[in-house]
Amino acid sequence: MIAMDNLITGTTDNIAHLAGHERFTFIKHDVTNYIYLEGALDAILHFASPASPIDYLELPIQTLKVGALGTHKALGLAKEKGARFLLASTSEVYGDPQVHPQPESYYGHVNPVGPRGVYDEAKRFAEAITMAYHTYHHVETRIVRIFNTYGPRMRLRDGRVVPNFIAQALRGEPLTLYGDGMQTRSFQYVSDLVEGIYRLLHSNEVEPVNIGNPGEFTIKEFAELVNQLVGNQAGTVTRDLRTKDDPQVRQPDITKARTILGWQPTVSLREGLEQTIPWFRSELQRLGEIS
Ligand code: UDP
Repeated sequence: MIAMDNLITGTTDNIAHLAGHERFTFIKHDVTNYIYLEGALDAILHFASPASPIDYLELPIQTLKVGALGTHKALGLAKEKGARFLLASTSEVYGDPQVHPQPESYYGHVNPVGPRGVYDEAKRFAEAITMAYHTYHHVETRIVRIFNTYGPRMRLRDGRVVPNFIAQALRGEPLTLYGDGMQTRSFQYVSDLVEGIYRLLHSNEVEPVNIGNPGEFTIKEFAELVNQLVGNQAGTVTRDLRTKDDPQVRQPDITKARTILGWQPTVSLREGLEQTIPWFRSELQRLGEIS
């Protein structure tokens, strides 16, 4: 197994436990540049991209480049090696959706020139070029549309709602609801996502497949659950920090994944948070932010 990352948002701490493993290699490389690798490859899983709204607002050009040029280079490598290719796409291809929940057949409601356009359109282009490599170069391609996912090893300060809320709760601070907190998200635990991706990779499905947990919560409900699980008494506070085009609702229709892959999520939000909170607690302790 070879992992490749330019580490602009990632860190090798996340793979420290694999260091020295005889079947694991890490290469620090920017996938938007030409990739040369010796030997055979069975499969390429292209996950490279900033994915948190604050990251892609700070790194808009890199986000567009990795979705476009990076996907092109990774597909070129797959073609060269005769390897299967899986693209990590996103529920953001649906934008601020006007169909709810979102099936794969929905074309989306994306503002190309809004602040989130750099991510959404990069991923939409990535899907288009992946399909073109399948149609014209006969590369075996797969596209997973990933909905909000959380779990241990998320970056503490990546700005997304899960790390923000858990860290605020552990510090005993009020949780920051952007807007009125009535917008919804559907959160899946990382192990469910990994199982879904594994099944999709080994399936014959070329068209995009949603992988997410249909359990939908308002951000306010989510905040209350985090406060309850952590035992935080500080409640919530509202902040006028919603970015333009922040989707009002999001929930996957997973009929396709259930039917084709025999997959569905098995970890509830409460169970997943019970796995995730201790990890953030030790992270904050390591940084000396809590005792
Ligand atoms: N959000 C919030 N407080 C925070 C961080 C995020 O209320 O401290 C909201 C944000 O406005 C959005 C939702 O939570 O409506 C999910 O945001 P996130 O950045 O996790 O990812 P998104 O699903 O928007 O890509």
